[in-house]
Amino acid sequence: MKNMMHNSFHYFSKILIICFSFMWLAGESLLAENPYAIVIHGGAGNIAPESLSPEQIEEYNLKLAEALSAAEDILKVGGTSLDAVETATRILEDSPLFNAGKGAVFNITGNNELDASIMCGETHNAGAVAGISTVKNPISAARKVMENSPHVLLTGRGAETFAYEQGLDIVDPGYFFDQRRWNQYREFIRNQVNRSRSYLDENIKMGTVGAVALDMHGNIAAGTSTGGMVGKRYGRIGDSPIIGAGNYASNLSCGVSGTGHGEYFIRNMVAYDIAARMLYKEQSLQDAAFHVIREKLVEQGANGGIIAIDKEGNVVMEFNTTAMFRGFVKSTGEKGVWIFEE
Ligand code: ASP
Repeated sequence: MKNMMHNSFHYFSKILIICFSFMWLAGESLLAENPYAIVIHGGAGNIAPESLSPEQIEEYNLKLAEALSAAEDILKVGGTSLDAVETATRILEDSPLFNAGKGAVFNITGNNELDASIMCGETHNAGAVAGISTVKNPISAARKVMENSPHVLLTGRGAETFAYEQGLDIVDPGYFFDQRRWNQYREFIRNQVNRSRSYLDENIKMGTVGAVALDMHGNIAAGTSTGGMVGKRYGRIGDSPIIGAGNYASNLSCGVSGTGHGEYFIRNMVAYDIAARMLYKEQSLQDAAFHVIREKLVEQGANGGIIAIDKEGNVVMEFNTTAMFRGFVKSTGEKGVWIFEE
């Protein structure tokens, strides 16, 4: 009797092991077959190629590549698009090269006010923060709003208090001081006095950052983070933290992160317009992005660009300026970083 029980237990455990092995193999091959992709931007603007030295170009390219590779490390082992987007964006925020986080531009009163948002294409949940000056990584604050609050958008002191309660890194506003940005601000003030350059001078409003990813589970996420525009009025909020304007993600269509003249991106609901064109007009991501960025915005005299990924893993990087810091990596092995038009 004892022997019979022992044999059947042995038999049963063998079947279990075989079942688990099949499940594991199926899971592995699912992960191996499903595509992933990550695309990032570091702002768009009309800059002349000769205005950047080869060393500066190298510096930008290296930072973009670092952000892409950190995000790919997450995606290639089956990590989530949200983690990939947050990780890539944090790396760009921590660099003084871009107008987000550490490198945020100064507003008219000589202070930094940062905006960011993140969206999950699977759940359509979203979180955003705006007008904050003490949170080291605004993209992480946006994610906390999405995941740990019933709200979508928190601003100013309320957002900063929430970020503190969530255990995020809080910094003195002086952390965001950067000499290059300060010089830019001083130049802006001088030009305002001389009225020699417009408020929206192209050369001084570049550098917003963003990331969009598709993970192996088929989920899209998008994030955008910015210091806004040099010399903006204090209290001004741009498109970056506005879901549908500077950021949008839906597994049904695509994920989009934008950069450019925020007021136009808000008025045109740029990110959502691209997704809606795919959904309702059955346009491809490329056609939808081309129409919105190269036709609609251009007709209105608005500059900017977007990065986007659809549910098949197609990557689009469309801009109507001479440059957009950008790059992508796909599970197919295609990858690259670029600044100027190809
Ligand atoms: N879109 C950002 C804003 O308007 C600026 C930028 O992307 O350059 O705040």
